[in-house]
Amino acid sequence: MRCPLSATNKEIDEFIRSNYDWINERLEEERIFEKEMLKIQNNSKIFYRARELTIVFRERREKRILVSGNKFIIQDNKINPSAATIQVEDYLIDKASEYIIPRAKSLARHLGVDGKIKEVKLRKTKSKWGHCTSKGIIQFNWLIMLAPYSIIDYIITHEVCHLIYMDHSRHFWNLVESICPGHKDYVTWLNNHEHRFWFE
Ligand SMILES: [Zn+2]
Repeated sequence: MRCPLSATNKEIDEFIRSNYDWINERLEEERIFEKEMLKIQNNSKIFYRARELTIVFRERREKRILVSGNKFIIQDNKINPSAATIQVEDYLIDKASEYIIPRAKSLARHLGVDGKIKEVKLRKTKSKWGHCTSKGIIQFNWLIMLAPYSIIDYIITHEVCHLIYMDHSRHFWNLVESICPGHKDYVTWLNNHEHRFWFE
């Protein structure tokens, strides 16, 4: 627990006692998060496009990733967790550059603000899905490619709409809603599931 240096033991005890349930809930939540965190290893679970799949390492000459039934198969001629992790990263970066970048640009064109885009970047960050600066640099976290397309589209919409409104005002959310109806459900879905996408 974090507390001010000036706190006395009595105050700390008092705080823990009066917030006991809340603290326990947070700890339980962290335990679940830790358990559900993605680990790229044979037989572990991956939450891919809203389905729970089993990661299968397969030694084959051809290096590739394929989804078949409820398996997320990672193939290579020699395979281990660290090589597989790099392969999954490359796979997601490829998917993100094929999907996110052209879609962000065409949505901006549709809204008449494509001239405002200076650059669309892909980067893995610790906590954010997207970012848009006043200079027109839009950044997306390629880990979002693990999510369903409806969620990815919401993230793209959100950042591109920032080219018009730099804030989270009512105007901004109305614009998001007009392009991505039901966006609130996507925000909720992300809040509930995003912890399953981050991996080391
Ligand atoms: Zn925003």
